[in-house]
Amino acid sequence: MTLDTTWVTAWMTAAAAVIDENKHDLNTLDREIGDGDHGENMDRGLRAVVTALGSLPDGATPNAALRSIAMTLISTVGGASGPLYGTAFLKAAEPLGDASEIDATALVAMLTAARDGIVSRGKAATGDKTMIDAWTPAVDAAAAAQEDGASPADILREAADAAEAGAVATEPLVAHKGRASYLGDRAIGHRDPGAQSTALLLRAAADTAEA
Ligand code: ADP
Ligand code: MG
Ligand code: MG
Repeated sequence: MTLDTTWVTAWMTAAAAVIDENKHDLNTLDREIGDGDHGENMDRGLRAVVTALGSLPDGATPNAALRSIAMTLISTVGGASGPLYGTAFLKAAEPLGDASEIDATALVAMLTAARDGIVSRGKAATGDKTMIDAWTPAVDAAAAAQEDGASPADILREAADAAEAGAVATEPLVAHKGRASYLGDRAIGHRDPGAQSTALLLRAAADTAEA
């Protein structure tokens, strides 16, 4: 489908469903290297996002929808991930201006701004075993696909594939940010929950774009 405000709502509705399905798995990942609440935090946030998007005014732009998502995540998710995802959506909105559709160029700008926002807020580098280890490969794959002339749906599929691989690749890492960093070598062998939720969100984006 065209990446407009209807798509943003479809994306978040699909994301809320997939986070609900994976809530226990995300909690389990976070129990192993954190405090066990990441699934709960994300589930609460995405439910609130779907409700908030339901009361967007008619004719709201994708920019306005993304800003609504950001505010809702910041006020409902809590923990480390709430402000980080909130910042991601707030920054993602900026390059869209008042356009009613997100084209391939705007899509890559949006994903890049989201990732950059998380980095400027959380100061994580690649390999620190955080959600950035899913976001950065996703952004790189999206940019490469866009340069090859891919459609928005294909760009999102490449991004989701790369985010999933990035989440898996956090397993052997020692963490340098967030609660998992207190564990030292004991974090080795466990997947980062925020990288996993990032992969789920981007897969929902790809699936809804393709529909
Ligand atoms: P909390 O750790 O406060 O309970 P969550 O469990 O909801 O918050 O989120 C944990 C996730 O947040 C981690 O798996 C990691 O991906 C992400 N995270 C934590 N700190 C940072 C950071 N500084 N930069 C990027 N991501 C981070
Ligand atoms: Mg946690
Ligand atoms: Mg917590």
